[in-house]
Amino acid sequence: MVRDDYENNGNIINSRLIELFNEGRDIQSILGETVKLLREYLDCEAVGIRVMDELGNIPYQAHTGFADHFIAKESPLCIRRDRCACIDISKGQYDPTSPHFTPYGSFHTNNLQSLGFIRDGMADGSYRGECVLWGWESFTLVPVKFGLRYYGLIHVVDNEKDKLTLGRIRFVENIAGQLGLYMQIVAAGEDKEKELSFLVKRIMHDMKQPLSSILMFAELINEEYSQDMDPELAGLLKRIVSNAGYMDKLVSSLGAFSDTLGRPDVQKDDIDLGVFVNELINDMSMQGYPGLKITVDDNLPIIRYPSLYLRRLLSNLISNAIKYSSDNSAPRVEIGCEEKNTYYQIFVSDNGMGIKDADVEQVFLPFYRTSSAKGIPGSGLGLSICKKIVESCGGNIWVYSQEGEGSTFYFTVPK
Ligand code: ADP
Repeated sequence: MVRDDYENNGNIINSRLIELFNEGRDIQSILGETVKLLREYLDCEAVGIRVMDELGNIPYQAHTGFADHFIAKESPLCIRRDRCACIDISKGQYDPTSPHFTPYGSFHTNNLQSLGFIRDGMADGSYRGECVLWGWESFTLVPVKFGLRYYGLIHVVDNEKDKLTLGRIRFVENIAGQLGLYMQIVAAGEDKEKELSFLVKRIMHDMKQPLSSILMFAELINEEYSQDMDPELAGLLKRIVSNAGYMDKLVSSLGAFSDTLGRPDVQKDDIDLGVFVNELINDMSMQGYPGLKITVDDNLPIIRYPSLYLRRLLSNLISNAIKYSSDNSAPRVEIGCEEKNTYYQIFVSDNGMGIKDADVEQVFLPFYRTSSAKGIPGSGLGLSICKKIVESCGGNIWVYSQEGEGSTFYFTVPK
C-alpha cells in the first residue's frame, strides 16, 4: 500500500500513538505498533526500532520484516565497542554538510551498495556493515531523540533503489520526534507529571507566537483590503480569525491544565467558602442569561484548600452550570455543601440540558465534549482540570445527571 500524503499520514500515526499512550500502554507495545504502521504506510521491506540501554547496547526493541538471523547478529551492537552507522546516529553524530544526512540528523541513501565510506570501513575491519552485506539499497536511520537526549533510532530498509524519498524520511522523523517525547516522559519516571507539565508549557510557549502572528496578519488583511474583498474570501478570512482565536483559548486552557500537574504540595489556605463563592459569582460575567438565578447555601463551612485551585475549580463548575443551561428560560444554579464525618461534600447543581448516561464518566477526560455541547464554546479541558485539582487535594469528583433535567457535580474536601 503506497500512501503519498506523508504530512497527513504522520498526523494519523501520531494520533494513534497518542491514543495508545493515553490508554496507558507500555512503551514496548507502542514501539510494536509503530513499526507495523510505518511498514504499512511506507510500503517497505523492513522497519526496526533500536533503543539504547544504560550499558550502551542498542538492541532492536521492535521490528518487522527483518530475518531472525539478521536481528540476532545486529542486536548485540554496543556503542562502547562497535563501529557502525547505527552507533553514530544513536549518539547524535552526523555530518550536516554531507548529502547523506538531513538537518534532523538522519542518515539516508537510496543506493547503499555504492557508498564508498562504508565499503572502505568494511575492508579495513573498522565498520561492521551488516546492512551492506544483506544487499539493501534504500536505507535510512532516523534518531529517536528529545532535545539533546538520544534514545535510539528507527531503521527502515528496502531492496529497491530510490524508495526512500526525502518526503518519506521527513515522515519517519515526525514519528521519531513523537517517540522521543514518550521516551522522555517514561525516563522521567516518578516525575512524569512534572515532566508533562514542563512539556505542555513548552508546547504552549512555542504555539503562542505563530498563533498571534496568524491573528495579526489576518486582521491586517481585513483592515487593509476588506473594502474590495470578494465576499467569499472575506468569509474565509473571518473563519481563519475565529479558528485561530479558538486555538488561542485552547492553548491558554492547556496552560491551566499543566498548572495542576505535578504540584501536590501546593500551599493550602483557610477559606470561608460562603464569602469565597459569593465573591467569585460577583466577578463572573452573567451576560446573555437574563433569567438566571444563582442560590448559595447560607451555611457553607470554612475549608482548608489552595485558594487559586478552588477558584479555578468552582468557576469551571459554575460557568458550566450556566453555559449548559440549554434553552431554559429560567436557569437555576445552586451551590451547597453536605457535611460528612471526615470530609465536606460540595455540590454545584443546575437545571440545564443534563448529560446522557453514556457520557457521565467521559466528561472528566481531557478534550471530551458531548454531542449536546456542539455550538457552545469550550475546550473540553475544564472538568479534567477540576478532576486533577480535586484528586491532588485528596478528594473525589463525580456527577449525577439526567438528560433534559439538569446535573449536579459533587466534589469532596477532606476535613
Ligand atoms: P468545556 O465546557 O470547555 O467543553 P468541560 O471539560 O468543562 O469542557 O466539560 C466537558 C463536557 O461536559 C462539556 O463539553 C459538556 O458537554 C459537558 N458538561 C460539563 N458541564 C455540564 C453541565 N453542567 N451540564 C451539561 N453538560 C455539561
